[in-house]
Amino acid sequence: MQRAGEDNAEQLTLFREMDKGAPCVVSCSFGKDSLASAIVALETGMNVQKIMFCHVMFDEGISAEMPEQERFIFNTAIPYFRNRYGVETEIIHPAMTVVEHFYKVRQDGKNAGQIYGWPTLRGCWVNSNIKLRAIKKWKRSNPGLLEVVGIAADEEERVVRKTVAGKVLVLNEQGYTERDAAEICARRGLLPPIYSVDRPRTGCWFCQMQRTSQLAELRHKHPELWARMLEMDKDSPFPFKYRGTVQEYERRLAEADDDAAFWARVRAINDESGCE
Ligand code: SF4
Repeated sequence: MQRAGEDNAEQLTLFREMDKGAPCVVSCSFGKDSLASAIVALETGMNVQKIMFCHVMFDEGISAEMPEQERFIFNTAIPYFRNRYGVETEIIHPAMTVVEHFYKVRQDGKNAGQIYGWPTLRGCWVNSNIKLRAIKKWKRSNPGLLEVVGIAADEEERVVRKTVAGKVLVLNEQGYTERDAAEICARRGLLPPIYSVDRPRTGCWFCQMQRTSQLAELRHKHPELWARMLEMDKDSPFPFKYRGTVQEYERRLAEADDDAAFWARVRAINDESGCE
């Protein structure tokens, strides 16, 4: 496998040279890597015309982003690039919401006649059928722009896959890793609020790739969103995750909460009683 910045270094340099002065758009999810890419592109003098953000909606009123990330994007990050660099963010609105696609009936394949239900781990339709379709359509009506993408130097497989004409991997070109990207954001007070040891990536709040602890966090912090998942889970022809339905996760997480409450209560009794 090619290593980032080694075997393909000459090619990357050529891309960069060709890219000087060329109008470009930063494709931004407002995760740390794409935010850092926007900052690096702007600060290395690239001709950034705009930032582009595909705003996937869960339904007509609820974003697919975690609520705290949604607030960060619209109240902090977009104004930051406007005020500091004079660069506007263009919001792309996909044609379909997640709920609409969830209940859409499959027209072909072995599951024809069934609704889509939860996205599958292999080939998530939120990405392919909602997000990428909208982005491709946008690109067709905005030809001639180089695309700055947020892929760090230590994402070796993605660097190789995305090193193609028309895309610029500015973090990789500068040798910046994912941790560097987080620090670049943090130094500007622009680190997205949802990151933690337990949540190292941004993503949809209903994503099945979340760990159990992340689902527990969602259930505690945003019970109204968890309730939507429970409601839709009954209709899905496929389980939410390989290891269980949302209903099953609900039972496990409720039991874990009950255990935690029990041990907190007996610990408090013990601490009050003392040992003579
Ligand atoms: S974050 Fe998860 S649900 Fe959202 S597009 Fe990515 S894989 Fe799909």
